[in-house]
Amino acid sequence: MNSAEKLIIIGTGPAGYTAAIYAARADLKPLVFTGGQIGGQLTTTTEIENFPGFPEGINGPDLMYNMYQQAEKFGTRYAFEEVLSVTQEACSGLFTVTTSGGAYQAQAVIVATGATARYLGIEGEKELIGHGLTACATCDGAFYRDVPVCVVGGGDSACEEASFLTRFASKVYLIHRRDQLRASKAMQQRVLNAPKIQPVWNSTIAAYHTDDAGEVSSITLQDTVTGEQKELELKCVFMAIGHVPNSKFLGNLVDVDAAGFIISNPGSTATKTPGLFVAGDVGDPVYRQAISAAGMGCRAALDAERYLNTLD
Ligand code: NAP
Repeated sequence: MNSAEKLIIIGTGPAGYTAAIYAARADLKPLVFTGGQIGGQLTTTTEIENFPGFPEGINGPDLMYNMYQQAEKFGTRYAFEEVLSVTQEACSGLFTVTTSGGAYQAQAVIVATGATARYLGIEGEKELIGHGLTACATCDGAFYRDVPVCVVGGGDSACEEASFLTRFASKVYLIHRRDQLRASKAMQQRVLNAPKIQPVWNSTIAAYHTDDAGEVSSITLQDTVTGEQKELELKCVFMAIGHVPNSKFLGNLVDVDAAGFIISNPGSTATKTPGLFVAGDVGDPVYRQAISAAGMGCRAALDAERYLNTLD
């Protein structure tokens, strides 16, 4: 066990990095656990046009690397380890953060672990991930040149992925369970006007089929209104049906809503456990934007700083 840190931050999306920038500038010397996906969800997106300060837009991985460097410049330390659990000692109030690399103690913890892509839950689905099923168009889109693919979902992510995939695929089916997209109007227009994108309304995937190499070769589409089924040949399914908040590893230290989002105290980033704060998508079922996550990261760092001052 290492000696106790003042502040541990878990996660490296906009929330985690912003918390680190504020905490480091307040001389709290935060230790940040990066998890497996350094930079979080935005490292899997392309152009970000709505983050203030970048009138020409900025590439997701570039934005996250800038934040990484900015936090480091003020004294943030990084540990490239996955956090497995967090517990709190009853008498001292110290947290023990157990990771893939060891156990660390801290007086305060900010949880900014974001959310993980959701899949449909069809039998055998997990085994197909990486074999014609993925939740990251930026990562895998270029592997599917001049072949038909589909995107599942009707939100901004689905539209963004579909739009991006038109660079490679011969055709992009946009499979949505209703007859109306949830995405912003601008995004809807971009998708509905794209010649290569074909919306498939009121539909969901009932089954995946594979070729001899075990790669997805077609799907069974099911009409969500009539129940009618039909086959659709394609080479890859890009899932974009939302995300599950990464909050389970905290056990009873936090209260969560029905979907697993961490509940914070009204007007604060504090959770029900003193010294444990939340920032970003893992605690935000409503806005889930890069800029709102960054704002919450700032608030969490200020809340943590105030909490630490009460211990001195
Ligand atoms: P989302 O807005 O929650 O949309 C999820 C989509 O998946 C919805 O259309 C939903 O259908 C569908 N869906 C959910 N569960 C399903 C299931 N089991 N089977 C079939 N379809 C299912 O998620 P998101 O698109 O990932 O966006 C999340 C947040 O990030 C939003 O606030 C969004 O605005 C934001 N975002 C912004 C940008 C940008 O501004 N550039 C880009 C990406 C994301 P229903 O519509 O029927 O519920």
